[in-house]
Amino acid sequence: MTDDYSLTATPGRQLPVAVRGEGMRIWDRDGNEWLDACGGAMVMSLGHCHPRLVEAAQRQLEKLTFTYRFSFSNEPMLELAELVREVAPMERGWAFFNSSGSESIESAIHLALLFWQHQGRPGKTELISRYPSFHGSTLGALGLSGSRWALAFEHVLGQNAVAQAPNSNIRAGRSPEEELAFGLQQIEDAIVARGPENVAAVFLEPTTGASGASVVPPDGYLEGVRDLCDRFDVLMICDETVTSFGRTGTWFGVDHWDVSPDIVTFAKGVSSGVTPFSGLAIDGRVADVFAAAPEGFPYGHTYSGNPVGCAVAAEVIKVIRDDGLLERSRDLGELLNKGLDQIAASSPHVGQVRGRGLLQGLELVRDKETLEPLAGASQAVTVAARERQLMIYSCPTPLGERTIEAVMLAPPLVIDEDDIDEIVNRLGDSIATLERV
Ligand code: PLP
Repeated sequence: MTDDYSLTATPGRQLPVAVRGEGMRIWDRDGNEWLDACGGAMVMSLGHCHPRLVEAAQRQLEKLTFTYRFSFSNEPMLELAELVREVAPMERGWAFFNSSGSESIESAIHLALLFWQHQGRPGKTELISRYPSFHGSTLGALGLSGSRWALAFEHVLGQNAVAQAPNSNIRAGRSPEEELAFGLQQIEDAIVARGPENVAAVFLEPTTGASGASVVPPDGYLEGVRDLCDRFDVLMICDETVTSFGRTGTWFGVDHWDVSPDIVTFAKGVSSGVTPFSGLAIDGRVADVFAAAPEGFPYGHTYSGNPVGCAVAAEVIKVIRDDGLLERSRDLGELLNKGLDQIAASSPHVGQVRGRGLLQGLELVRDKETLEPLAGASQAVTVAARERQLMIYSCPTPLGERTIEAVMLAPPLVIDEDDIDEIVNRLGDSIATLERV
């Protein structure tokens, strides 16, 4: 055993050293087999080491590994931009590529502010986002996040997470119609309070990821936000870092509703973790302004449009198409949801099962009467799952005075029915340990 000089989020606790991965499974150096039911952080759309992705990366690695965006375009990037245009939830979508979810949120902020400058409205600089939410760790993205991770940096961050997401408080006891009205009022109030003439964009996750554990909005909400953005001349930007590329059973999370955002950001599943990769799809109305500007859109990052990342992402889209994985995500998501409902029926501590496709969350509560959070339960269940060699995602999330306790699952779209049974069995056993504490 060598000393470990890499900084981790678990000081003093030796993590298993992963040496091999395949599909939903990871093997560590001690020969243990782990079920990765959350793709690390909702990353593994096609699982670990998908043969077609390995091959696509290898092919590209032998041809061209880097280009700089001020000097060259590259073939995989051109192909990927076309594929994104085909699946993007907007008219005449243009694409821009980065290396992480946070970077793409930064690019979305740049695009939003510059767009209004180009329109002769430089005063439109305010950004509105929601709580709970998580948009990334760089300071711009963290400044949009209604997340516990923003707390330590509040003194340097903007206060942007000002509108509450609908359905995020299961104790409110509101009907779907009331949640819809509530959620939309939150956005409208935020725009009006800051003055529509000052607001550049509203950022939101169509279905939340780590913040709140897969909170799905009521039907009509995204369309309602679109209407508000149109009414007040504000860009609608959807953070689809987690929800894109089949995670919820459609190409993009917004595709469940009849809505066309101005910009969507994507990451994680777009490369299934093979390379750090992310991007944005940008509506033609916005992109045209940059395509016509003398300086274009210069605010990328060194690795923007990396050919290896682009080749892998293009292959992800082709595999999803060839293997019918959107449908599979919907079907297996329903099966997983049923299994989680069974766990909920037999546990006093599951207050809600929620999600879409293969993004499913469970909220953990003290009892089903009050639905009050069971303090520490997210971590306790995650640790119990780890003892059963099941990896799940722990999502404690501040919401006002409370911390919501929840865990989330995001297995690869390539899993089968037996894998779902295995996840449900191990998770059920893990949640049962809460009754013994
Ligand atoms: N946006 C959302 C919704 C996320 O869940 C995350 C990460 O979990 C990010 C942005 C940031 O992505 P990254 O960690 O790749 O920078």
